[in-house]
Amino acid sequence: MKGTVLYAPHDVRFEDREAPKIIKPTDAIIRTSATCVCGSDLWPYRGISRINGPTPMGHEYCGIVEEVGSAVRTVKPGQFVIGSFFVSDNTCPNCRAGYQSSCVQKEVMSTAQAPLVRVPLADGTLVSTPDLPPDDLVPSLLTLSDVMGTGWFAAFAANVKPGMTVAVVGDGAVGLLGVLSAKQMGAERIIAMSRHAARQKLAREFGATDIVAERGDEAVTRIKDMTDGIGADAVLECVGTQESMMQAIRSTRPGGGVGYVGVPHDASLDVGALFWTHVRLHGGPAPVRQFLPDLIKLVWNRKIDPGKVFDLTLPLDQVAEGYRAMDERRAIKALLRP
Ligand SMILES: [Zn+2]
Repeated sequence: MKGTVLYAPHDVRFEDREAPKIIKPTDAIIRTSATCVCGSDLWPYRGISRINGPTPMGHEYCGIVEEVGSAVRTVKPGQFVIGSFFVSDNTCPNCRAGYQSSCVQKEVMSTAQAPLVRVPLADGTLVSTPDLPPDDLVPSLLTLSDVMGTGWFAAFAANVKPGMTVAVVGDGAVGLLGVLSAKQMGAERIIAMSRHAARQKLAREFGATDIVAERGDEAVTRIKDMTDGIGADAVLECVGTQESMMQAIRSTRPGGGVGYVGVPHDASLDVGALFWTHVRLHGGPAPVRQFLPDLIKLVWNRKIDPGKVFDLTLPLDQVAEGYRAMDERRAIKALLRP
């Protein structure tokens, strides 16, 4: 089998690797129908986060169950399944509270940019579709593994409710799907912050009513101007920098919520300043597993089409071009088909 391995910054290879095998009785092996490159894959790709030697890549996956371990009960060979980028038992107290990405047995997936992938804790992690999906639904189903579930969690964590004014900081795939999520949750006005024409267009297709191209202080001023000087009811922070986090907090009205899902890089909070804002903060790695059953239904019934976020499709063996295109912002998100 060949799989994707990051050797060093800007050095992604698709090379021979040992095919995954059942290691624990709770494992399943999935034949991936599609996988993709995540914005977070770009942190090690750019050398901003370090890797210790050659690292297998990929944590977004969906496909057909090939084989299951002897203790697996709910997942069967031949089913089409989607799993979160965090594996979870779905039975511990954190899982039962809806925070499967804090499962006491959690593990991060990291070998999914390959034709076969081993998924630990298969019963807790994987959710099957009602039937084998038509091929045109596969990209949208794949997004539920991480990017769509993360955009959804951003809106959930910001406490988006019908009729609200929502602002979204970040026009990457997560931010764009945060727009779609806010729309689905009934937001009336959705302000997408983007300065790229193609991303602005997709944001509008997903439900954005307004576009703000400014950043930082100027962006905060624009949001305040658009909300009678008060601020948005809910703000989705989908970047993870100091500037984007402060922009989100300062764009939110007193009592409003910020849902933050951008992985922080050198960001810190001034608690003294935060105290006087009355803003609620909630975020972290998205508990995608909590939302999978409902999101599968929405995709299956063609109520949402998050797969539109893929603007580049490549054969899996050209995965290195997918990284390059996303790194250079030529592509929003690259879909890989084995
Ligand atoms: Zn758990």
